Amino acid sequence: MEVLSRMLDSGLLEGKFSAHPLCITPRLTHLAFADDLLVFSDGSQHSLLGISGILQTFHSFSGLDMNPSKSELFFGGYGDSEAAVIADLIGIRIGVFPSRYLGLPLNPTKLSLATLQPFIQKITKQLNSWTTKFLSYAGKIRLIVSVVYGKVNFWSQVFVLPKGFYKKIDNLCSAFLWKNTTSSARGARVAWKDICKTKEEGGLGIRSLEEFATVFRLKQVWHLFTRRGSLWVMWLDHNIFGRRNYWLMDSTPRLSWNIRKMLEVKSVFQRLIKCQMRDGMKASFWFDYWTSLGPLIELFGQLGPRELRISRNASVWEATHEGQWHFPNARSHQAEQLQICLSSVAPPSPLRGADWYQWKQPTGTFSETFSSKGTWMQIRQISPHVAWHKAVWFKESVPRFSFIHWMASHERLTTRDRLLQWGMNVHGSCVLCDSGLDSHDHLFFKCEFSRSLWISLAGRSSPNPPLSLPLASMWVLGVHSSPPHYASKILKLLLQTAVYMIWKERNRRVFSADATSLSATKILVDRTMRNRLISFSPEESVTTISLLGFYFGCISTPL
Ligand SMILES: [Zn+2]
Repeated sequence: MEVLSRMLDSGLLEGKFSAHPLCITPRLTHLAFADDLLVFSDGSQHSLLGISGILQTFHSFSGLDMNPSKSELFFGGYGDSEAAVIADLIGIRIGVFPSRYLGLPLNPTKLSLATLQPFIQKITKQLNSWTTKFLSYAGKIRLIVSVVYGKVNFWSQVFVLPKGFYKKIDNLCSAFLWKNTTSSARGARVAWKDICKTKEEGGLGIRSLEEFATVFRLKQVWHLFTRRGSLWVMWLDHNIFGRRNYWLMDSTPRLSWNIRKMLEVKSVFQRLIKCQMRDGMKASFWFDYWTSLGPLIELFGQLGPRELRISRNASVWEATHEGQWHFPNARSHQAEQLQICLSSVAPPSPLRGADWYQWKQPTGTFSETFSSKGTWMQIRQISPHVAWHKAVWFKESVPRFSFIHWMASHERLTTRDRLLQWGMNVHGSCVLCDSGLDSHDHLFFKCEFSRSLWISLAGRSSPNPPLSLPLASMWVLGVHSSPPHYASKILKLLLQTAVYMIWKERNRRVFSADATSLSATKILVDRTMRNRLISFSPEESVTTISLLGFYFGCISTPL
């Protein structure tokens, strides 16, 4: 392929074909990867015959031939009949967008939902294949994050996808999670937007696809600023952002969909990028953040360029004269501020190398690397923290217990009081004690069954059972012990195990004629605790008591 590359490049120089008008600088005759080849030209008859000739010469000595039945011609700016005549002459059919390159759809305009339909169908099929496997909620979440979101995010890195597409994927995931189907997400217990919050904020820590799509756009612009050697950056520099730089350009319909999306993140991008000014050639005087005052256009406002007599598209270099800063006399507070600030900044000099950029990290510092996660943390919509998150998610937790505890903390288990509120005609009393209402408030832990379970397991630490799940969650987080945190770890695990077992027993009694006695449930919780704790060996040395040993000694009482 290397030989063919050279033949195409020299073919252009020898006039065997003419370049595409947008592929002159940088010179771009083709893109090739494995056996996928894209050749660019002005589309004239002369050029297409010239390219055919080069491919035939290549065939004559390499044996590698172009397959006309698998090849297509794409025209831009040609009339239909003109294109048809040329295609006929060359013997290659006219292609229709979207085409595929390296397995991805190639389209000159915005990718529509219809174009993405095969991809949506693929995800639907995958989710459907999992519905037969009786997965726990926690298992389903893992599959959604690693497989579905992994694939979609890969696509988001390459393409700007429509919002409707993300919505469709989220609906499919929501339906799969709550209903074990892909047909409808109606009646989801927790809204998907709440699931896409961090665990600290009461979500499941899934990163919203749409927010991550913005991260990928920011990354593209970051590459535009920092990847000097890349062909893509060279092409953009010359053909799109060449005369007016990124900061000065407005998003207009004349530009391609991808470029418009890059321009639409401009204000967010400006908050996150900082310029280390050296030779002052690349740094934008007005728009880059290169002094401690931030982007100067924000300090001076739109009249700044007139006041300082420095044009909007000026580089920092243009604010100097004979190696020194050069400004008119300060006539405003801002101009004074700038001059004071610059008195301690060395003027740009070619001896100091090229300007370079840094990216803001969640800690507020700047570094030379772009972190997708760190960027997402800075741009995502933030919600208040929930007090109970540490009681639900912790190292020793059991994923399926955590999930039920999480749902109970949101009061989203389908207790009968909720069904009554929705107007359903159901018997509303608690199946565990037959005296209270089947509600979150009663089940955890006002119910006689739950109270008794809690007292026998945690009674040594807390003789009075907590009166509600939020209070219990707060209490287990604040318990002190020696060694530190041991009691809290055990009580957290005990709480989620109890919540899970109570809910499971409640369901058994509601949906089948079976019932497990209180004493058998106590034994079950105790055995589950032991099985879980045995996998955690002493943390520091063999002489340190293990979590299981601590459980025997301080928490558990003989049942
Ligand atoms: Zn009860």
